[in-house]
Amino acid sequence: MVKDHIILPVSKPTEGSMGKTGLWRTFRPVINYDKCVKCLLCWFYCPDIAIKIRDDGYPEIDYCYCKGCGICWHECKVKAISFVREGEEVG
Ligand code: SF4
Ligand code: SF4
Repeated sequence: MVKDHIILPVSKPTEGSMGKTGLWRTFRPVINYDKCVKCLLCWFYCPDIAIKIRDDGYPEIDYCYCKGCGICWHECKVKAISFVREGEEVG
């Protein structure tokens, strides 16, 4: 499993003076676990450390800190991440 062969960052997202970064979001990334291949590129590139690695090796988005930048969506090579407007269902 990839997670056993990399050094995990020690940083954690924290609340800023404007509150949690998740409050900024207009669009949100949604992971399709049927397509996800656990490559963890999304986790690696997320600038807000808003993606955690679950015990089963899959990524999980922390919507309290995801600001909806779309980088994970852009970097996912197998298109397992959708980027949808807040309040809308995944198409
Ligand atoms: S980049 Fe895509 S395939 Fe890779 S772990 Fe993230 S969601 Fe899964
Ligand atoms: S949209 Fe941006 S902040 Fe949110 S999980 Fe993806 S890379 Fe991280």
